[in-house]
Amino acid sequence: MIQGKSVVVTGSTSGIGLGIARKFAAAGAKVMLNGFGDAHEIETIRYELAEKFGVDVAYSPADVTRPDEISAMIETADRQHGGVDILVNNAGVQHTAKTQDFPPEKWDLVLATNLTAAFHATRLVLPQMLERDWGRIINTASAHGLVASAEKSAYVAAKHGMVGLTKVVALETAKTGVTCNAICPGWVLTPLVMQQIEARAEKNGTSVAEEKEKLLAEKQPSGEFVTVEQLGDLTLFLCSEGAAQIRGQAIAMDGAWTAQ
Ligand code: NAD
Repeated sequence: MIQGKSVVVTGSTSGIGLGIARKFAAAGAKVMLNGFGDAHEIETIRYELAEKFGVDVAYSPADVTRPDEISAMIETADRQHGGVDILVNNAGVQHTAKTQDFPPEKWDLVLATNLTAAFHATRLVLPQMLERDWGRIINTASAHGLVASAEKSAYVAAKHGMVGLTKVVALETAKTGVTCNAICPGWVLTPLVMQQIEARAEKNGTSVAEEKEKLLAEKQPSGEFVTVEQLGDLTLFLCSEGAAQIRGQAIAMDGAWTAQ
């Protein structure tokens, strides 16, 4: 199913996106990486994936807050990989502050990166997916797409918005071979979460290890972080024939966070 397919994973130079991209490369897909970071490190990742799995791996430096750059990324995938069969809208940023203190420019950045970018990438790939009558759009939402936490107004709004966008696209494609779903991870130990843990340790005068445990104890009953490999496997499953009638769902993988 995945062998030879062309996949674009936004925000795949690190964390969950990289975990998902790795699973696709291992399954024989042509992968377009995207995201920020050190150019040498990104090239090392690109080369390592291509060599290890014998697939074509490209990289787009597109800033997904810029629709013109998203468009250029999709055009590169069309040219280099013959189209886009699978789109994973995964790029994301976080900012925490009470709503009355939330800097408006941070609100705009979180919404642009975590929500509006998914709209643009989706509208740009849908025509070709519908023409081929096959496609998969997978949006990395969050447990925060289903429930809220304090001090995350922009992130929670963006992730709830992403779940809404997912449902609309799924309805509009319901009679076709294109599906659209969201995955909703709980805590995953990536740079995005490490920043929050380190900030909490500094604020509370505690250790990073203590704050990791507290973070899980507050929200995630399993007491364990979700891994990028587990999320990669879920994403691959959503691309399989077995998942063809999973449409418009927000699938939580969150150690029972949202079961509470
Ligand atoms: P991360 O910081 O490791 O990765 C974020 C990726 O997005 C990086 O590759 C980064 O370069 C890229 N990115 C950021 N801004 C971008 C922009 N403007 N244009 C292009 N790329 C950009 O974080 P992560 O934890 O792997 O997060 C990935 C996704 O998973 C995000 O959407 C996040 O909201 C979501 N998520 C994370 C967790 C978690 O616990 N880590 C939980 C639920 C959802």
